Amino acid sequence: ELPELTEDDPMAIGLGYKKDTTTVDAAKQPRHTADQQCSNCALYMSKSETAGTCAIFAGKHVSATGWCSAYAKKA
Ligand code: SF4
Repeated sequence: ELPELTEDDPMAIGLGYKKDTTTVDAAKQPRHTADQQCSNCALYMSKSETAGTCAIFAGKHVSATGWCSAYAKKA
């Protein structure tokens, strides 16, 4: 079981990762929209209903409803 990525992880801070996409600060992240979350990001691989792995945050689980500034819409 991989550890969960926390918002205070240095890389998470660098990419503005939030466990809950609805808590992203719109002023800081103008690209963000409410429908964007890890579960519909191209870099996400689902491991359960609530969490999965991300190509950027190796060795950690990100939240299915999370978000970071590297978000790329799944094709
Ligand atoms: Fe979530 Fe995508 Fe950011 Fe990874 S790159 S943390 S899957 S939004």
